[in-house]
Amino acid sequence: MPYTHNTIVKLQKSSPAQTEFYQAVEEVLDSLGPVLDEESRFCQHAIIERMVEPERQIMFRVAWVDDQGKVQVNKGYRVEFNSALGPYKGGIRFHPSVNASIMKFLGFEQVLKNALTGLPLGGGKGGANFDPKGKSNGEIMRFCQAFINELYRHIGPRTDVPAGDIGVGTREIGYMFGQYKKLTNNFDGVFTGKDLLWGGSLARKEATGYGCVYFAEHMLEGNKDTLEGKECLVSGSGNVAIHTIEKLLALGAKPVSCTDSQGTIYQKSGIDISCLKQIKEVENGRLSDYAKRQSDAKYISRDNYPEDGHAVWRLQGQVAFPCATQNELTAADARALLDNGCIAVCEGANMPCTSDAADVLLKAKIAYAPGKAANAGGVATSQLEMAQNASMQRWTFDEVDQKLKDIMRGIYQRTRDTAIELDQPTNFILGANVAGFRRVADAMIQQGVV
Ligand code: NDP
Repeated sequence: MPYTHNTIVKLQKSSPAQTEFYQAVEEVLDSLGPVLDEESRFCQHAIIERMVEPERQIMFRVAWVDDQGKVQVNKGYRVEFNSALGPYKGGIRFHPSVNASIMKFLGFEQVLKNALTGLPLGGGKGGANFDPKGKSNGEIMRFCQAFINELYRHIGPRTDVPAGDIGVGTREIGYMFGQYKKLTNNFDGVFTGKDLLWGGSLARKEATGYGCVYFAEHMLEGNKDTLEGKECLVSGSGNVAIHTIEKLLALGAKPVSCTDSQGTIYQKSGIDISCLKQIKEVENGRLSDYAKRQSDAKYISRDNYPEDGHAVWRLQGQVAFPCATQNELTAADARALLDNGCIAVCEGANMPCTSDAADVLLKAKIAYAPGKAANAGGVATSQLEMAQNASMQRWTFDEVDQKLKDIMRGIYQRTRDTAIELDQPTNFILGANVAGFRRVADAMIQQGVV
């Protein structure tokens, strides 16, 4: 498609070497072709050109002192991508792979995801190429404080409200909030994912994983099927994966796998959630420890993965939940899933399928939900946390969970209805991209050229 091609060529010149960002933009633009042809207002107002350029990108040095007294330097980012629908909202990632491309792909996806929730949220993303693994508590605290020493001036409850992501959980949010409060003298609801003791929302921690399973339930129901009794392949063993597994178990499905960056667990009898939580949430351990405690669990180390993909997707399972990271499911993995009888893929992570893998799944016309629809429960519940903070209220777990269920149903219906309207009822990538895009684009048009 010439429009997509020209946009990517321009991005390659203006923002060189940002492959993940081009991948995310290309997927969205490919979906938008027919809409741009038929609804000329979007081209007249140069919406695409404006949407692929973040409103603001902040890049900064983060200098801190490690336990040996040595000065360490990392690179910090906040990409404030689009505020047409509300304050910038999106997580902060601490991982050695973080760079401008990954920040921009995540920020771009976040804009459309947040729009799809129907809530008043703009989109942004941030992070640092800091590796929290093996760091002491004191090092984590000093890093978070150094990160906020710059970021505090750019964020605020009505400006930009960060949350967690890979490598950033309640502990890191606590240290960042503490430093923000110290510097601004304000006890603002400026972060979500806070601890329950000081403004966090019940069910926020669980929301992304639970929401992903609620979305999968709707997709299967649409095909007159249920999750009950289904063997499910889950990747990751962090926040999203753990709560996906927990909700699958609660609904009578059988999650049989989880992964970390070093290996994969396969347990035919079903993952033991309390053992997994103990190792990952309490002991900060590795999945190799899980295999030592569960006699019927098999551990496949990363060294034994197939050359063209990942061990977890070569296992037997009917529904797949990639919940670790971007591009963790290749075309060869997708073909293996289909050969093994997989009937649905529901993305808990952001962009976990490569473009080629997504094509394989779309062609097979199985139930396939993109992350921007299926994992939007996390950000939606963040908005519920913001609402509770602003009104000084505290809702019960069940109240928040019920609102999360309603929001996920709304996202599912918007995605499905848009896919049906565009005559491709099984293409939820198309449905999610177009539904999210129209909302942001019309808001931008109404707000003029700014
Ligand atoms: P966590 O840091 O809690 O967990 C990440 C998991 O993925 C860990 O098991 C980690 O293994 C694994 N992982 C990370 N990077 C890699 C890699 N390069 N290769 C293999 N495995 C990897 O993060 P979350 O669970 O919060 O996030 C997971 C995904 O969900 C991300 O894509 C995130 O953007 C997305 N997401 C998260 C939301 C949230 O509310 N937290 C909301 C919406 C989306 P290891 O421990 O070995 O590094």
